[in-house]
Amino acid sequence: MSDTRKYVYAFEEGNGSDKMLLGGKGANLCEMTQIGLNVPPGFVITTETCLTYLDNPDQGLPAAVMDQVRANMQSLEEKTGKSFGGSDDPLLVSVRSGSAMSMPGMMDTILNLGLNSNTLQGLISQPNNERFAYDAYRRLIQLFGKVALGISDEAFDEEFEAIKERVGVKEDVALSARDLREASDIFLDVVERETGKPFPSDPYEQLEIAIKAVFNSWMGKRAVDYRREFNITPDMANGTAVNICTMVFGNLGDDSATGVGFTRYPDTGENGMFGEYLTNAQGEDVVAGIRTPKPIDALADEMPGQYQELVELRNRLESHYKEVQDFEFTIERGRLYCLQTRNGKMNATALVRTSVEMLREGLIDKTQALLRIQPEMLEQLLFPQLDRSATASPMARGLPASPGAAVGHAVFDADRAEQEGRAGQKVILVREETKPEDIHGFFASQGILTSRGGKTSHAAVVARGMGKPCVAGAEGIHVDVQMRKAFVGDATISEGDLITIDGTTGDVYLGEVAMKEAEFSNELEILLGWADETARLKVMANADTPDDATKAAGFGAQGIGLCRTERMFNAVERLPIVVEMILAEDASSRQTALDKLLPIQRSDFKAMLKAMAGRPVTVRLLDPPIHEFLPSEHQLEEELEQLRHLRDTVLGMNILSDTVEFMYRTADTHPSIDKMADPQLVDEAIDKKAVMLKKVRALHEVNPMLGHRGVRLGITFPEIYSMQIRAVLEAAAECVKEGLEVFPEIMVPQVCTKQELVRVKSIVDSVQQAVEAHYGVEVNFKFGSMLEVVRACMRAESLADVAEFFSFGTNDLTQATFSFSREDAENKFLPMYNENGILQDNPFEVLDIKGAGKLMELAVGWGRSKRDNMKMGICGEHGGHPDSIRFCHQIGLTYVSCSGPRVPIARLAAAHAALSEGPGGTQSL
Ligand code: PEP
Ligand code: MG
Repeated sequence: MSDTRKYVYAFEEGNGSDKMLLGGKGANLCEMTQIGLNVPPGFVITTETCLTYLDNPDQGLPAAVMDQVRANMQSLEEKTGKSFGGSDDPLLVSVRSGSAMSMPGMMDTILNLGLNSNTLQGLISQPNNERFAYDAYRRLIQLFGKVALGISDEAFDEEFEAIKERVGVKEDVALSARDLREASDIFLDVVERETGKPFPSDPYEQLEIAIKAVFNSWMGKRAVDYRREFNITPDMANGTAVNICTMVFGNLGDDSATGVGFTRYPDTGENGMFGEYLTNAQGEDVVAGIRTPKPIDALADEMPGQYQELVELRNRLESHYKEVQDFEFTIERGRLYCLQTRNGKMNATALVRTSVEMLREGLIDKTQALLRIQPEMLEQLLFPQLDRSATASPMARGLPASPGAAVGHAVFDADRAEQEGRAGQKVILVREETKPEDIHGFFASQGILTSRGGKTSHAAVVARGMGKPCVAGAEGIHVDVQMRKAFVGDATISEGDLITIDGTTGDVYLGEVAMKEAEFSNELEILLGWADETARLKVMANADTPDDATKAAGFGAQGIGLCRTERMFNAVERLPIVVEMILAEDASSRQTALDKLLPIQRSDFKAMLKAMAGRPVTVRLLDPPIHEFLPSEHQLEEELEQLRHLRDTVLGMNILSDTVEFMYRTADTHPSIDKMADPQLVDEAIDKKAVMLKKVRALHEVNPMLGHRGVRLGITFPEIYSMQIRAVLEAAAECVKEGLEVFPEIMVPQVCTKQELVRVKSIVDSVQQAVEAHYGVEVNFKFGSMLEVVRACMRAESLADVAEFFSFGTNDLTQATFSFSREDAENKFLPMYNENGILQDNPFEVLDIKGAGKLMELAVGWGRSKRDNMKMGICGEHGGHPDSIRFCHQIGLTYVSCSGPRVPIARLAAAHAALSEGPGGTQSL
């Protein structure tokens, strides 16, 4: 049966919106052709063809594929008037990869295909073409040899460098036609030497091998690593297309050029054409960083007419795609061609600025402005920047290729970077220039430094996409990989030395330079304001101190969703009071300690309420088991032994040593060091430690996370909760008296029955009465429960009788749902579970929607069946994760609460969640 499937689409017929079938590059070439831009004629072999081929590569390409390719090649011959394999005016083509998701440099490309000793003569016979023809030929042999025949770069590079050295030139452009002819001959020998076969001369044979090589590169290590790192799944991109396009040449002399452009600046977002080009060069020279390119503005002087055409091209691309475009162009003997366009990869600064400006220019609407930025991208804006007040002076300067600053130990190759990165070292990858095969080194590094190449070199583009700082083209640095050193004037960077790079300015420093936190731009404020208008979820912050609360307000938190009060106890001067409270033998001595804690907590709560004036502050009552505030049993045993030793031996000899001082340095139980010589005081210290040890042993539990903690503590020691509740309500009363509007909320942890809530509520009621009577003001607040225990979720309806709000503590709820210890699982078996696909994600990081999420969904329904519109939120770590936020939106939570710096990310994610909702309402789960 004949194979009637359509494998190939001419640029005139492909559907520009079908990126899955044609790949991004192919779809755009079709679209640009169809809107009348000057694209060299060509066609696309579909991604489906790639998958069919990869199913059974040994069988080669289906026969119908090459039939359709031949038919399309004939049509290219008609359109161009050239002939493929012809000796007069030969048609040469490029063979390029391109999948639905842009994966720059990850797959293979072959240029100048169709050249052989016969067509070469045809090319040479054109005027002034001899040098160009040999250059094209040696490039084909080299690229084809590498990509399609698997010959190493070095095999060609060594020969080429030898020729340059012999001729005495540094740049390729300085080589004559004769030199390049020699290079072509030598390269043909290299192919024969390395593969045992001559270089294939039949153009269609070249084409078929090249198509298969590009298809194979979809499964190459670089591409597979890249997809894994960026979570590119088959529903996002499946297989690569092959784009076959008539070659146009930027290396035909001084009226020819090639370059890349962005319709706006990809680092700042500024509205203006940004780009780089090289006269008399081919495309890969710009990207590979082999010659340092010129800024696009220089073209206005060099070729004013073509520059004007380029500006028009830029304007048409942006108004058509309504997105910043990253395009490639070639000028062949004065004629401008657009070879490729795609959505520009930008850093977060540029994305935010262009969103705001393109909306103002009427190019996009608010929804598009929000959706074009992935929430996680905003993390870049929270990157540290170098502290400009630091006095360090740079040792070298390169191009500011990807903003942000980074400090790390210099490493000179990608493998070493990966190795050190795995061992937990912070490293900066330092290279002369990077290549796609260095990609694993990028992942492992804090930042990238190169000594050659421009802002569109491989290093720059990849680092920007990853949001990692990069300084490119620092030409003052000479990298010697063999010696594992880099030389900068008189200075040397040895492998392992700490260096600092500033991708915002291009500066490079020896040693570590101080950093400071990033600041919000005006545009980000505007964008996040739109996000807040769009989102239904409110975004609150987890903050435990007044300082954190102030910072959270700066990040735009709409309140504090979780204040873990126990964190307030950990300050050096507070801990002894907490210890005193725990060691108290009876209620009255416990009360004495609590009376000391009350004013401390009250002033903290007051400061937090003030920092969040007008917005809710949810204070969670004491949660962890109290033994966490005491030294461990082991530590106490050791200290006791040392004290006893001191008493029995050392004191007898009147010797005080540093060791003795160390022994006394715990809690509040020891006398000052100069009195230690007094055996009676040492005895007292021993008695106190012994009491503490007894207490620690009494408090010991086999499973403390499932033990005497949370509300169980509040029930058994009501005076502790009573003090905390009083501190919250007194702080609120004082604010009210000062005329402030405050919204305190009291939240009970680890609840599993309604009776627990009823007990705590009765304490709340009596404290409220006393506080209101004392201050003479009414204190409004909410009383709520955490839902972090499975039973609490199942009994949500009953808990809602007492609780006015719920907050899902998904850290504990995940632990309880899986019976995985949240303290241990991530270091023990979880990585193996993830690697083996037993669990797709770490459930402590990515909310387990099917398990813990199901409990939440049920609890929401049950709670609201009792209390209409009941306020419900999440305060576990998941509250700052975009996927979890979408789920929280879908089940109808009121708010998410996350750490302060993640608040901007959560605000945008909350808007995305609202925008992903279909017009019919909540998306199905
Ligand atoms: C939780 O369990 O999700 C929570 C927020 O509380 P903690 O992490 O303090 O146990
Ligand atoms: Mg918890």
